[in-house]
Amino acid sequence: MTVRLPIVVPFSPSIDEAQAPEVPFSALDTVWFQLTGTLCNIACQHCFISCGPKENRVPMMTEATVRSYLSEAAELGVRDYYFTGGEPLLHPQFWTLAESVLAVGPLTVLSNGILIDGANAERARTLFDAARYSFDLRISLDGMSAEENDPVRGRGTFEAITRGIAELARVGLSPTITVVEHRTGMGSEQSRSQFLQFVVELGLSRPRVKFMPLLRIGREAERTHGYDSALAWYSPGPVEEALAERLLCSSSRLVTEHGVMICPILLDAPGAQLAKTLRQSMTPIALRWDACRTCVVDGLSCRT
Ligand code: SF4
Ligand code: SF4
Repeated sequence: MTVRLPIVVPFSPSIDEAQAPEVPFSALDTVWFQLTGTLCNIACQHCFISCGPKENRVPMMTEATVRSYLSEAAELGVRDYYFTGGEPLLHPQFWTLAESVLAVGPLTVLSNGILIDGANAERARTLFDAARYSFDLRISLDGMSAEENDPVRGRGTFEAITRGIAELARVGLSPTITVVEHRTGMGSEQSRSQFLQFVVELGLSRPRVKFMPLLRIGREAERTHGYDSALAWYSPGPVEEALAERLLCSSSRLVTEHGVMICPILLDAPGAQLAKTLRQSMTPIALRWDACRTCVVDGLSCRT
C-alpha cells in the first residue's frame, strides 16, 4: 500500500512590494479565530490550508489566547466574529468560548457539519436562543450527491454532512451552505438554482447557499494546479475604494495561537504574520500573494 504523505508548501510573497496593489486599513470590524489551528476531522483534497486529522503545524488556540484576543477586540469595538479551523467543533472548549463571544458580538462558525449529531444540534439551538447577538453556522458541502461531493471531501462525507444539516433543521436552525466550485460549471446559474432547491429539500427554513471560487494553494495546488505567477492581474498603488471595502484585509484580521495574521487565506504565508496584538496589526496591506488574485479578480469574499 502506498502512503501519501501530506505536502505543505508555505507560499512566500511572489509579487514585488513596489509593484503590489495596496489595500488601506479602514477599521477593525471583524476578527477571525483560527480556533483549532490546522486540525480537522477530515482532509479535503481542495483544502487551501491543508488541514487534517493529524495536521498540527498550526496549533489549536488555548482558551487563554482566545479570551485575550476577544477582550482586546471588544475594547477596539469589533463588530463581529468568526470561528474557523480546521473544524472548530473539535476544540474542547468550543461551546463555552462560543458563549463568551456571543456575549460581546455576533458569531459565525465555519464547520463541515460532521460532528453535529442530535446532542450538538440541541446545544447549538440552546446557544442560539440564549445569545444576545446573532449566532450563525456555515456548513461546507461540495455537491448534491456523494458522487459529486465525496471525491473532494472524502468517502462518506456527503452522508455525514447532510445528516448534520438535517439535525440542525430538526431543531429549527438554518445554516448557510457553502459550496466550493471544485469542478467547471459548478458556479453556473443553473447549478446555483439547483443547489438552492436541494437545500430547500434538506429542510432548511432560510435556505442560503454561498458559492466560493477555488483558492489554488495548499492541497488544491496538488489536486489541480497552482497559480500562474506570470499572470499580471495587478497594478501598483492603492486599490479602488469599492474593492478595498469588499476585501477582508481592509477591515478584518485572523488571530492564531502564534499571533495576528492578515486573513484566513494566508495562514501558511510567512510574510502574512503581522503582530502579536490586534492593535499593532491595523496597517495597510500590500497584496503580494498570488492567492490575492482570487479575492481581487474572482470576487472571493470569506464573509457570509
Ligand atoms: S476544507 Fe474545511 S473541512 Fe475540509 S479539511 Fe479543510 S478545514 Fe477541514
Ligand atoms: S488573500 Fe484576499 S483577504 Fe487576504 S490579503 Fe490577499 S486580497 Fe486580502
